[in-house]
Amino acid sequence: MMTAKTMTTKTTRRINVGAVAVGGGADVSVQSMTKTKTADVEATVAQIKELEAAGCEIIRAAVPNEEAAAALSQIKKQINIPLIADIHFDYRLALTAVAVGVDALRINPGNIGAPWKVKEVVAACADRGVPIRIGVNAGSLQKDLLEKYGHPTPEALVESAEQNVEILESLGFSAIKLSLKASDVPRTVEAYRLFSQRHDYPLHLGISEAGPSFSGIIKSAVGMGILLEEGIGDTMRVSLTAPPQEEVRVAWEILKSLGKRRRGLNLISCPTCGRCRVNLIEVVREAQERLRGIDKTVTVAIMGCEVNGPGEAREADYGLAGGNGEALIFKHGKVIKKVKQSDMLDELIKVISDD
Ligand code: SF4
Repeated sequence: MMTAKTMTTKTTRRINVGAVAVGGGADVSVQSMTKTKTADVEATVAQIKELEAAGCEIIRAAVPNEEAAAALSQIKKQINIPLIADIHFDYRLALTAVAVGVDALRINPGNIGAPWKVKEVVAACADRGVPIRIGVNAGSLQKDLLEKYGHPTPEALVESAEQNVEILESLGFSAIKLSLKASDVPRTVEAYRLFSQRHDYPLHLGISEAGPSFSGIIKSAVGMGILLEEGIGDTMRVSLTAPPQEEVRVAWEILKSLGKRRRGLNLISCPTCGRCRVNLIEVVREAQERLRGIDKTVTVAIMGCEVNGPGEAREADYGLAGGNGEALIFKHGKVIKKVKQSDMLDELIKVISDD
């Protein structure tokens, strides 16, 4: 049987970022970026470890100077997920990063400068099987394109991406991934659509500078949700003015909500209404906290009453439906216990853990 994924995902070329396959039908992978000073190895490794635990599959670190480039080797040795060096302009930093073993570079060849410098970076990447991500960003579009288009339009973003691709292709290099980010959803979506109609390079999705948590999550979910549902996107990063663990959690929720990936907890809960018999908002908040790190892929339904509650609770792997001073606990579609309300969350979590 065809899955939703195989029906809708546009097939892109396959590249490998370390051990993670990107494109060519591979799962959409979750990325984030460290927010520490990269030169601070201890802090950066600690943050990457936390991100790994949250489900981050590829990590990117900014490399603004030699100290940061030198730290990459130590960082790489202590982490388990592929490391991408994010470099602007300086070909020497790119060469150092490749030499110390990063798994990919994020650099725009059009910004490196003299052709011989571009050649050196590309040759080093080709030698070591290191792919390059071209990151086109509405905020840093080339002057000539801004003059040509007047604004960073989707067409301008695509032309910038194509110019960068041509530089790499002219050097026989095709292990390329691209992003075309704007800070608003319509332009970002249109840029990715346009590029994806014309090319089959894998695409890294993101809404650039999406903002603080609440609005940033909505922008990211809407923008990436549209693209993913159209089969566009091979890796993704949610950018938030918030701790990076939150970016990873949001990315997973977007993927899970579309049925593209499954991981950890899928929590279903009702919005409550006048029939609600329990303090559901608090119960669900606590359940989410206590089940956050669960190492099983499970759907858990927590419902406020016995009217609609049992239906949803039965469909989930585990469920709880509140009643008058008591609650029903469900496991794989069957009521297995009637418990006191004061014990219901402990009972539900015990059932899930023991199964
Ligand atoms: Fe209201 Fe019950 Fe539905 Fe929750 S499950 S919204 S309490 S009717």
